[in-house]
Amino acid sequence: MPDRREPLDEYRAKRDPARTPEPVPAAGEPTPSGSGATFVVQEHHARALHWDFRLERDGVLVSWAVPKGLPQDPGTNHLAVHTEDHPMEYATFEGEIGAGEYGGGSVTVWDHGTYETLKWSDREVQVVLHGERVQGKYVLFATRGRTKGKPDDGRSWMVHRMDPPTRDGWTPLPDLVKPMLAVPGELPEEDDGWAFEMKWDGVRAVAYVDGGRVRLMSRNDLDVTRSYPEVAGMGEQLGSVQAVLDGELVTFDERGAPDFGRLQQRMHVADVAVARRLAKTVPVVYLVFDVLHLDGRPTVDLPYDERRALLDGLGLAGRSWQTPPSFDGPGADVLAASRENGLEGVVAKRRTARYRPGARSPDWRKVKHVRMQEVVLVGWRPGKGARAETLGALVLGVHDDAGTLRPAGSVGTGFTRRMLDDLLARLTRIERRSSPFEERLPAAETRDVHWVSPELVGEVQFAEWTSDGRLRHPSWRGLRPDKSASDVVREG
Ligand code: MN
Repeated sequence: MPDRREPLDEYRAKRDPARTPEPVPAAGEPTPSGSGATFVVQEHHARALHWDFRLERDGVLVSWAVPKGLPQDPGTNHLAVHTEDHPMEYATFEGEIGAGEYGGGSVTVWDHGTYETLKWSDREVQVVLHGERVQGKYVLFATRGRTKGKPDDGRSWMVHRMDPPTRDGWTPLPDLVKPMLAVPGELPEEDDGWAFEMKWDGVRAVAYVDGGRVRLMSRNDLDVTRSYPEVAGMGEQLGSVQAVLDGELVTFDERGAPDFGRLQQRMHVADVAVARRLAKTVPVVYLVFDVLHLDGRPTVDLPYDERRALLDGLGLAGRSWQTPPSFDGPGADVLAASRENGLEGVVAKRRTARYRPGARSPDWRKVKHVRMQEVVLVGWRPGKGARAETLGALVLGVHDDAGTLRPAGSVGTGFTRRMLDDLLARLTRIERRSSPFEERLPAAETRDVHWVSPELVGEVQFAEWTSDGRLRHPSWRGLRPDKSASDVVREG
């Protein structure tokens, strides 16, 4: 709480009036009095995005930095860091604080208005806000100092909404929405009623954006946020928008075509420092093609066209995140363009269709230029010649319709040296004595094979299926850590 005699000393000590555009009233001057009931929330894109919540009290703005902003519903409390009192003039401040200065970054007024005080003590403040974006009853309360062994410095607070959600029917952000999947097939007979998008050769990820923070979930429900730090900026751009977005993480080659092989380097990285370095040398772009939840409202039940309009309205455009276009057709032209540009194919999406989480739906059709198949790695054979030291081929399996793992042949091409070494290390760790197949295989297929526990998933490109269910001319594309072995079925 402020020292009444020198209320703005701490504020002044942190700032040089010659170097910041912020108002810095001289010491000893009487503080201008406001209405006594002003509140303001400023969005502050500093080193970390946060919102500054300020309440006029005794001639100053008592302030908290709220990393995720004021909660919109009573279900979640947000951290609030009690900071130094600000001068009244700050209530209308917007501008750019220079890099290197205290709070360097841009400040805009997110909301402002008046408030009523229900309770005000050193450890608890209850108010009713009357703003343009926020109305309702909030409580701020001090928590014990969070750092073990350090005395409570009074800076750790929480903010809680006491009223019902800001809007009728406000639905909190869901924890998990499984991505909708496309059915492999041909272009629709008629273009009418369909939208066409390029198919991006990367890994699927669903983004949960809340309070400027992004959480990325893979198709097999793993949190992969740490692997792709460059996507965090999308949260900063979205500010206080709450959303669940669906898209594909893609790396590009020198010519600007998607390169799934390069993406392999990014897919297994959990170490923050390594991920940051790779984000510079092998950057990904998050291509966002759907919105599943927006500002307190699930949007999965809206038709494609309406979701697409909401998505376009978000204006997602950054170096590491984009909304690729949706085309009206003709589908054949879009497919031809995708081939010319070295893309994998197109996805035709029925315009009236809702989003079906977790379903493989004929409302989305993927049309690819090359056949690809996900495979379970069941074993490996040693290499010969130049590859004598490492593996020569991977032995593959695919589940049939009944869920039984069936042999699908083997793949011996398409590897880089780095891939071979990485695969060998992974496979050695899960080696087992026996074949994981129920059926007995011909001796020619089992000779030299080191069997492994069937848990790793990869992907191959191939020419066709043989009559006995083996892949003909398969070429390795890479591991698919975003998929589970049990999901691997013959794709047609
Ligand atoms: Mn701030």
